[in-house]
Amino acid sequence: ANDRKGGSENVWLSDFVERVQGAVDDLTELDRLAGDGDFGANMHAAFGDIDLPLHGSDSVVLGALSHRMLVRAGGTSGAVFGTLFRELGQASQSLTDAVGSGLSATAFATGLENAVSAVMALGGAEEGDNTLVDALAPAARAAREAASADHGFDEVLTASYDAAREGALATRELVAKKGRASYLGDASKGVPDPGAIVVAWLFGGSGRTADF
Ligand code: ADP
Ligand code: MG
Ligand code: MG
Repeated sequence: ANDRKGGSENVWLSDFVERVQGAVDDLTELDRLAGDGDFGANMHAAFGDIDLPLHGSDSVVLGALSHRMLVRAGGTSGAVFGTLFRELGQASQSLTDAVGSGLSATAFATGLENAVSAVMALGGAEEGDNTLVDALAPAARAAREAASADHGFDEVLTASYDAAREGALATRELVAKKGRASYLGDASKGVPDPGAIVVAWLFGGSGRTADF
């Protein structure tokens, strides 16, 4: 069961980490085609030695994932994903843990909105620059819309996944303007942004990099 109340298995975030751990080589290959080829190694440095399943509330697990990204992963992605997980975890903590539940639909939407602002302020990327912002920003909009329509957490997560996947797919048409990938110019055309794919995985789905 997807019990996100703490103590027991955190299925949502365990599934996410498992997918990233299993895709390190594919993520490296995408970053090799459109960047400097270290994205998989950076994800491996952050998540490679995590024993699954993860246990604990959403806020606790997100805080731990954030810390790993900030401290262990190199590259732009360490700082950016560290910021994303930190914002989601903080929204979870402030809005839901007081009543002892997992991350609520509203807290999730708020956390994503905060994450978009923080990531854009940190790295200076805007939508259309061929970064994970192209998955994160539409996901935040979809989450807010679904939460406002009183949908539950799982439905909000699904709405975010659909929006993030579409955004990640669209990065194939974009030329990178930020990060190491920007040094290659047109070479990044036709290659989906690997960071955007990982953002989509955070919201679930069963997709592999080949689906993007
Ligand atoms: P680096 O570009 O430093 O080699 P990584 O390879 O670890 O970093 O991570 C690459 C990913 O980081 C890209 O796929 C992209 O999604 C994301 N990224 C790069 N620059 C930015 C930025 N300025 N803002 C947000 N995300 C970024
Ligand atoms: Mg790289
Ligand atoms: Mg690099």
